[in-house]
Amino acid sequence: MVAVQDSGVEPRLNSRIEKFRDLSPADRLATVGDAARLGQADRDALRGGVLPLDLANGMIENVVGTFEIPLGVATNFTINGRDYLIPMAVEEPSVVAAANEKDRVLIGLGGGCREIEVQVFEETQVGPMVVLHLLVDVRDAMGANTVNTMAEAVAPMIERISGGTVRLRILSNLADLRLARARVRLTPKALATKEFTGERIVAGIVEACSLAIVDPYRAATHNKGIMNGIDPVVVATGNDWRAIEAGAHAWAARGGRYTSLSRWEIDAAGNLVGTLEMPMALGMVGGATKTHPAARAALKLLGVTTAQELAEVTVAVGLAQNMAALRALATEGIQRGHMALHARNIAIVAGASGANIDAVAKELAADHDVRVDRAREILLRLGKEEA
Ligand code: NAD
Repeated sequence: MVAVQDSGVEPRLNSRIEKFRDLSPADRLATVGDAARLGQADRDALRGGVLPLDLANGMIENVVGTFEIPLGVATNFTINGRDYLIPMAVEEPSVVAAANEKDRVLIGLGGGCREIEVQVFEETQVGPMVVLHLLVDVRDAMGANTVNTMAEAVAPMIERISGGTVRLRILSNLADLRLARARVRLTPKALATKEFTGERIVAGIVEACSLAIVDPYRAATHNKGIMNGIDPVVVATGNDWRAIEAGAHAWAARGGRYTSLSRWEIDAAGNLVGTLEMPMALGMVGGATKTHPAARAALKLLGVTTAQELAEVTVAVGLAQNMAALRALATEGIQRGHMALHARNIAIVAGASGANIDAVAKELAADHDVRVDRAREILLRLGKEEA
């Protein structure tokens, strides 16, 4: 690979790599490694299987292992005049599987197209448009390929009947007929902490949610907190988190104004009641759910037997995560808890390993001073004490 000169200052790589797709994974890695002048350690890291358990353990809580997804490199990118090789980690292939036989499988399982809806947009910037919705029961699949295949199959028939031209033939991720709901009721007593009464916390959570309902700036972060619970389950089970994110935010804006996905209210007895209802197009067959061994194992670990059950569990996790974030926000603020966890990351960055990670993190958090240079000082002191 030939490095080219960029602006006469920094040598830049050339992102145009002929026949990259025809190479083996090892040859692709060697090619991009040479182009980007990566050392052996970076090449090994990109090859995968290199996140040690103790490092993973420092990154999040309750670690039992690591979860790999395929890493590809997109070539031929020139952005703002500079060439880039773009690393992309994702589980979804871009090739839509041809599936006529698959339709028969779905029908055999009691699924298939249930209804047809038509919507007319009299005015768009290129003239009037007609949208035809196929409402498909996809059973335990996420259903994107299934629906896309059907949309392509019926297009010629639609053209014959309507006399028009079919353009886009694809599913919508606003899966508003595939909603999952979670609801929780908590007594104030269950929420009380040493510093705050349960009533104070209940009121604080309702107040925080009220703001997210009316303010799109707050709603975006409120909903991100919900997705902090949902996305990890979606990824771990090999499902399509972009589809779930797209559906969630489109649903949050369905009234014409972006708002909170969840509702937190006080019932007549003074209990806190939280509800979350949102599209949840998850699958247990199809896509990476069947090809990724860890996704299959994760589904076994969950013990769910239908896609609907998986959706219900996932939404419940989103609601729980939302409650935890609002509870922290309504009381001590988000940083205290967050910093305690982040301190472990900072300890690792500073060079801590083994038992020292916790020792350094504990001290950083106790001092409310979570910085790498402070972590290095503590590490140095611990080293001297041990010597
Ligand atoms: P798929 O086509 O691999 O599997 C679905 C098929 O499995 C069904 O058509 C059916 O024939 C068969 N099947 C076997 N047992 C079944 C059961 N119990 N219930 C239902 N079907 C059963 O996958 P899919 O779920 O149609 O599509 C999911 C994939 O599509 C994901 O990888 C997703 O990332 C990708 N995708 C997403 C989008 C999008 O969200 N916009 C677009 C294109 C592709």
